[in-house]
Amino acid sequence: MPANTEHQKVTLITGASRGIGAACAKLFAENDYAVCLNYLSNTAAAERVQAEITDAGGLCVLMQADVSIAAEVQAMFASIDAQFGRLDVLVNNAGILETQCRFSEITESRFRRIFETNVISCFLCCQQAVQRMSSGGCIVNVSSMASKTGSPNEYIDYATSKGAMDSLTIGLAKEVAAEGIRVNGVRPGLIYTDMHASGGEPGRVDRLKERIPLQRGGQPSEIAEAIYWLASENSSFVTGTFIDTSGGL
Ligand code: NAD
Repeated sequence: MPANTEHQKVTLITGASRGIGAACAKLFAENDYAVCLNYLSNTAAAERVQAEITDAGGLCVLMQADVSIAAEVQAMFASIDAQFGRLDVLVNNAGILETQCRFSEITESRFRRIFETNVISCFLCCQQAVQRMSSGGCIVNVSSMASKTGSPNEYIDYATSKGAMDSLTIGLAKEVAAEGIRVNGVRPGLIYTDMHASGGEPGRVDRLKERIPLQRGGQPSEIAEAIYWLASENSSFVTGTFIDTSGGL
């Protein structure tokens, strides 16, 4: 694996062993970032993404951690300090969706689980990141169009967690702007990833694609492009805002 140079930017992407996170990891690596690839438990999947990056000449280190647990997040950032001594970009991508149900059927434990994975993780990682970032640092939070629709009859818990992420994005952006750190978000619509198969409703994207003005679901790489733009110098006057990456939905 090539060693990172003093001037190479470093990005941490959470939940990046598959889906949107994996697409981000590859795109940042293609653009010469050293990638810290966080994953929860699927080491083989994470290693496959790492191998794709290193085979293409990029630098990728794997960081196993449950990002909803403070001690694991602290250890992960300590490992970034030890290996790189800098952090330029954080992409809070890790998230879960549970099966569809009506509001009255959402259990307290499910609501807490969704919040721990989707919101507490974002809070913990943002707090660690801004302590380390200098001017030019960027955070991109992967929210959802659900934060605007509320997802009635399906996933109000998930939508609420993404709404919380949006507020955190706006507030933190204003708080750290004077330090030259930018904080933005993307709101994917219906994207072809395993999230729907493993948590929500398999086949959901195809079932609903006629409602999408662009008449198709999105690919993870299309979300990664928006995330990369928000983390790049090309968006240097953009903070505290969101790109709806939803095909017009
Ligand atoms: P995905 O299920 O493929 O990816 C989510 C990743 O997060 C998985 O790799 C999972 O292991 C990881 N993860 C979950 N809990 C974790 C934890 N505690 N610690 C570390 N990693 C953890 O789905 P995806 O579609 O690629 O989702 C990425 C993000 O995009 C999520 O935040 C999701 O809410 C958001 N999103 C997806 C869609 C869509 O249609 N796929 C739409 C809107 C928003």
